[in-house]
Amino acid sequence: MSGPRRHAVLVDFDGTASLTDVGGELLDHFAADTSWHVIDNDYVNGRVGSRAAYRLAQGLLRHDPAQWLAFALERTRLDPGFAALAGLCRRRQWPLEILSDGLEFYIHAALRREGWVLPVRANRTGANGSGVAIHTPYMNPLCGRCGTCKAERVRELRERGFQVTYVGDGYSDLCAAPRAHRVFAKGVLAEHCAERGVEYHRFTTLAQVADVLSGTAD
Ligand SMILES: [Mg+2]
Repeated sequence: MSGPRRHAVLVDFDGTASLTDVGGELLDHFAADTSWHVIDNDYVNGRVGSRAAYRLAQGLLRHDPAQWLAFALERTRLDPGFAALAGLCRRRQWPLEILSDGLEFYIHAALRREGWVLPVRANRTGANGSGVAIHTPYMNPLCGRCGTCKAERVRELRERGFQVTYVGDGYSDLCAAPRAHRVFAKGVLAEHCAERGVEYHRFTTLAQVADVLSGTAD
């Protein structure tokens, strides 16, 4: 690729594009069993990866897409700066993608509600008898820890010559962020970056991310 490298912007969904952890709240609400909290706790403490956690959680769920969607849309609150960031990417023709270890169905719906149609990489749900199957089309077979391997997407875009900006807040971002050219972080991700000496911009709203990126040459 000749000339300056194009930018690509990768944004986590739960806790980042949405201020709320919609996937977490969904499982808290519908995984009608206290063993979900044991699984979640194991995940947060690094004892299981998200893929194993989902495999365990799906046994606790009944497939009810309409109720799930209504619940998820009710709980989603897009960051008020999301439109500024997405608008900037559109004007500059920078690819903007949502990378999520949550569930695809509510992400597309929540974005569409605000008028955005964007590429999304996330886990998928389907019926399995009266229960649920959680599919992980973007897992990395060489690792298999997370449902969605965000690091793999950073790697692919870098290989294609993109200057990759990563925006996130949580556990599912820990592998991906250090591999990006530029990181915007809050929450657990910011703590990890600080502890490990990964350079990052701390942010509280995506409007700040848009501000910094708008000063960037193409
Ligand atoms: Mg998150």
